[in-house]
Amino acid sequence: MADRLRLAWPTKNKAYAEGRPLEDYIQPTVSGRVESGLFGCVRTEGWQFHEALDLKSVERDRRGEPTDEVFAVMGGVVRHVSDHPGKSSYGRYIVIEHVDAALPVSTLYAHLASIASGVRPGSKIEIGTSIGVMGRSAGSQALPKARAHLHFEIGLRLTDKFQSWYGWKEFGSKNDHDLWNGMNLVGVDPKAFYDAFRDQRVDTFLEFWQSKSAAVTVRIATRSIPDFIRRYPALRSPPMPLFGLAGWDVDFDEFGVPIAWRPLLAEAVQGYKGSELRIIATDEELLGGVKCKDLVKTYRGKQIPDDDLQTNLQLLFGLHR
Ligand SMILES: [Zn+2]
Repeated sequence: MADRLRLAWPTKNKAYAEGRPLEDYIQPTVSGRVESGLFGCVRTEGWQFHEALDLKSVERDRRGEPTDEVFAVMGGVVRHVSDHPGKSSYGRYIVIEHVDAALPVSTLYAHLASIASGVRPGSKIEIGTSIGVMGRSAGSQALPKARAHLHFEIGLRLTDKFQSWYGWKEFGSKNDHDLWNGMNLVGVDPKAFYDAFRDQRVDTFLEFWQSKSAAVTVRIATRSIPDFIRRYPALRSPPMPLFGLAGWDVDFDEFGVPIAWRPLLAEAVQGYKGSELRIIATDEELLGGVKCKDLVKTYRGKQIPDDDLQTNLQLLFGLHR
């Protein structure tokens, strides 16, 4: 059995650990619906995705500003510190990569009021280290005081060549965050993970990732080994063939997160032209439950990747180049 992970909660609020209702630890949007602070298709009648948990403030100073400390949920290495609230809709944010975990996930902590001294890219961080103070920084416009919160994400990095894709997209603004731009991180539901860990259904992130079901499987003809699967080799099985890699089958969950990779030999991609890709399986029930992500569409009677899956495939395989 795998060693059980050491895992902390990102704030001092005990409500989750004590099994209290969502209202005691989740910060809703202006809608007031507590679900809007959870992960998933939780906003704008289900059409808008939220890739995190929004954790509410439970400590305020005399001016009503939050004073809740924010903690690293596992040990790791600080990869990114953005101390300029105006440079991202995340406001001030920190990304920590949990390099020693069986699956080296990253955690992201956003909308901070301040960042603890000593938290710099490259710093080693112990579990439970105070890394900053909860706040309401959020790009050009701060959140209202009443809705100050911690936006907390858990995810994997799609590519080390993010800048190449970002430049090709011509967003019209500079990428100030290198590989740690939110668009390069794909997240899973933090609460689903904490629940599975608490209930001892999983002991590690890897087990959680492996417990997910495929919503879409894509087969692609390519001899390349994307940096994603070099970085997260635990998601690949069976082992790499010694010779003759000819493609990949990649399973994605219902939010477009790559969850399992299988290397292929030539006969699996016979008849594929160039780096052609095909959708070879879908789970319509899983896909149908998620209206805020466009993963698959039908074109001339054939299933092809829709915008959100296309973006992740571009980032993973460099298909835009
Ligand atoms: Zn959020």
